[in-house]
Amino acid sequence: MLLDVRKLALGDKKEFDFNTELSVGGVPCSTHTSGSVIFTEEGYIVKGKIEAVLNLKCDRCLESFSKNIVCALDEVYSNDINENSEENTADAKNEDKDYRSFEDKALDIDAAVKDAVMLEMPLKALCSDDCRGLCFKCGQNLNKGECGCDRAYSNPAFEGLMDLFKD
Ligand SMILES: [Zn+2]
Ligand SMILES: [Zn+2]
Repeated sequence: MLLDVRKLALGDKKEFDFNTELSVGGVPCSTHTSGSVIFTEEGYIVKGKIEAVLNLKCDRCLESFSKNIVCALDEVYSNDINENSEENTADAKNEDKDYRSFEDKALDIDAAVKDAVMLEMPLKALCSDDCRGLCFKCGQNLNKGECGCDRAYSNPAFEGLMDLFKD
């Protein structure tokens, strides 16, 4: 969502609270974001809380599942800073502060929400830590029951490779 800050004078604060459906790295997310923006000399300081439901697909069993996350929204929007920093990007750029630019007096909060959720995205999507995955022989979802296949089979070529790493 775009947060209109046209009416904000220096020192003013504006609260916001909204729901958005976003796609974060290809994962559909329902997000609820609440917080406030304060117009200061530094820029528009946005702080808030993001609650998101990620609609993931398990890497092991391929079933869909959802995961709830909560993370912070903490951004400073300023166009002045971005212009100045072009001259001396190396040392002037404050490492822990990234300024976002904006257009037409509207802050693109969605982009900030996406970035914050992206950082919380699990590297491995597992429906549960002990997900048993799919049978490599018949493809049955082993969380739903045994298929009866003999999975003791191991690849001789792979065994030979393992010998190389034994010590
Ligand atoms: Zn799974
Ligand atoms: Zn099987």
